[in-house]
Amino acid sequence: MAQTRNRTTGREPDAVRSLTGEFHDSSLEARYWSFTQDDLAHWAATAATLCGAFSIPLALADLANVGWGVAFLSLLVLRAMLACVSFGLARLLRSEPATITRHGFISAACAALVVGFALIALMQPDSAQLDHLEVGLILMGVLVLVPNRVPYALGVCGSAAALWVAASAAVRHSPDAAVVAHSLGFATTIAIGWAAASLLGATRRRAFAEHVAAERANEQLRAEITRRERMERELVSRANLDPLTKIPNRRHFEEQAQDEFVRCQRTHQPMSLLLLDVDHFKWINDTHGHAAGDEVLRVFSDALAEQVRRIDVVGRLGGEAFAVVMPGADRERAEEAAERLRARVAGLRIDMPTGLVRLTVSIGVTECDVWTEHLAEALARADVAMYQAKTSGRDQVVFA
Ligand code: GH3
Ligand code: MG
Repeated sequence: MAQTRNRTTGREPDAVRSLTGEFHDSSLEARYWSFTQDDLAHWAATAATLCGAFSIPLALADLANVGWGVAFLSLLVLRAMLACVSFGLARLLRSEPATITRHGFISAACAALVVGFALIALMQPDSAQLDHLEVGLILMGVLVLVPNRVPYALGVCGSAAALWVAASAAVRHSPDAAVVAHSLGFATTIAIGWAAASLLGATRRRAFAEHVAAERANEQLRAEITRRERMERELVSRANLDPLTKIPNRRHFEEQAQDEFVRCQRTHQPMSLLLLDVDHFKWINDTHGHAAGDEVLRVFSDALAEQVRRIDVVGRLGGEAFAVVMPGADRERAEEAAERLRARVAGLRIDMPTGLVRLTVSIGVTECDVWTEHLAEALARADVAMYQAKTSGRDQVVFA
């Protein structure tokens, strides 16, 4: 997928930061969180549930450590509280997944849980390195398992580790060398967790960026398909319609007329044909100009299309000659229709800058013999009838 680099930074738009695995582009980062929030919230809810579920059975270890008594009961209460916070958090994340995008809130919840577990560890006798290992694992969990922004998670884990080292040193009177060793141990744990969190974040963001790129490509493809479909419709209409009058041109008219011819043959219906030629059109052109002549042709064809039935086929054969195919119409109905058309045209008044234009039309009518002849023969007969109308004085209908 071709990407456009940012002109000022020279970076790919979906480049990620190596230290945090987050997008350089803050709007893309925000989109990543809102797009993946359901997924991430589900993941965090699972981590919170596990955290709560594990804290209760560990009470058995407390019992072994401190024995039955007030200390154990205090630890049990603390564990129950931690479990409640964990389950509550899991529930909130499941019902409102957008909570995962509130990084401050998630960080505070993690800090509360870490402090709770650290308190439990501190309330027990010194178990040598084991407590440090547990706290280290919890911090690792916060970094790797809880979806959060890396700087926030680092803030929580760094402060928690520092507090833990200071508190355990104070409570257990650890020697300085041990404090240094523990600090180094936590620094290493946090560094490993940081690297894992950045790597995981970068991987997820790359998958998201690919998804965004695929969506964009799909959108472009859809737009291209729509554009081509529109072009195809335009081409078909250009190929079929006369550009001036927007009615079928000769070729398209003949195709449609032939279809109707065959259909009438099949359904045993009569079919009639009208051939119309505007009278003295050359005179209209010469007197009012070619543009006025064009306008007259438009008005004439509109009137024609208005007068005929929906099933009739109208076409412009060329110049000021038009034709109408009337499926299902016998001689009588065709003559009636032709007369109606003639009268309608004679009644037209077209207002032009050069004056009022009135026109008449000569019409040749024929009934096709769909069984014995071809369409072309019927057309030729209608043409002869139309010329008869011309020679007999124009503005009239002649049946062939
Ligand atoms: P008749 O009554 O015998 O049909 O006479 P007419 O003047 O109508 O016929 P003629 O064939 O002598 O002239 C037709 C004119 O129509 C000539 C041509 O320039 C003009 N014409 C053809 N197509 C167009 C067009 O698209 N627009 C315009 N304005 N004129 C056209
Ligand atoms: Mg004419």
